[in-house]
Amino acid sequence: MSDKKLVVITGASSGIGAAIAKHFSQQGHPLLLLARRLENMQALALPNCMCVELDVADAAAFTKAIADAEAQYGPTDCLVNNAGIMLLGDIANQDADEWKRMYDVNVIGLLNGMQAVLEPMKQREHGTIINISSVAGRKGFPNHAAYCGTKFAVHAIGETVREEVAGTNVRVITIAPGAVETELLSHTTSDEIKAGYNEWKESINGAIHSDDIARSVVFAYQQPQNVCIREIVLAPTKQQ
Ligand code: NDP
Repeated sequence: MSDKKLVVITGASSGIGAAIAKHFSQQGHPLLLLARRLENMQALALPNCMCVELDVADAAAFTKAIADAEAQYGPTDCLVNNAGIMLLGDIANQDADEWKRMYDVNVIGLLNGMQAVLEPMKQREHGTIINISSVAGRKGFPNHAAYCGTKFAVHAIGETVREEVAGTNVRVITIAPGAVETELLSHTTSDEIKAGYNEWKESINGAIHSDDIARSVVFAYQQPQNVCIREIVLAPTKQQ
């Protein structure tokens, strides 16, 4: 059994989360993967890996999944709050249900994760929480108002909790990617907005790869515990 500690990753059924899972697995960590599409996580076929189907907005399911994984693999040393949805729309016309869905996953889901692991991490005086935000958590883009709201919240929550728990040796890290080639855009309901986004992506020479983000996540985690990389922003070089 490796001495590598348990890493919990949300939204590991596709895109950036699946890449993060593979990179941590290559480093020998046992994993708990969480998302709604169980079969996608199982298809990664990673060793020492528990996959649980859940909605991150369900706090009780989140806590139970972590307790079950810890019973098998020991305490969680790293939580990567990666699950997220992006439903682009103009506020004047967008269905309000889309705003709510984004806040439930991108903000409440992330808070649920932090709450599920923070107290034991504080008591052990060891642990790392990595929240996946976005460049859209630092600046606005057309048709991104509600999504930007959720991602600005990720920065605000992460920075606030980082200060709260710094004295207990627990790290809170925010990683903010620019355009990455994943399924993220596919859930937006407006074909016009999707087409505009794809044109923009071409104009910046394409998006970067999920592995590019996964490398930065593992890099931040692998620093000595007394070094906290507070924030990484990484994007295609031609993205402004
Ligand atoms: P994907 O759509 O490929 O992945 C999103 C992941 O989130 C999926 O695994 C999905 O799993 C999971 N998810 C969505 N809703 C829920 C839910 N209610 N409960 C549990 N899991 C959920 O997109 P990305 O990989 O691009 O997105 C990952 C993160 O990166 C997101 O937070 C996104 O905002 C952020 N990001 C992405 C960028 C990009 O350009 N791609 C840029 C900046 C940030 P399932 O559907 O199986 O539940």
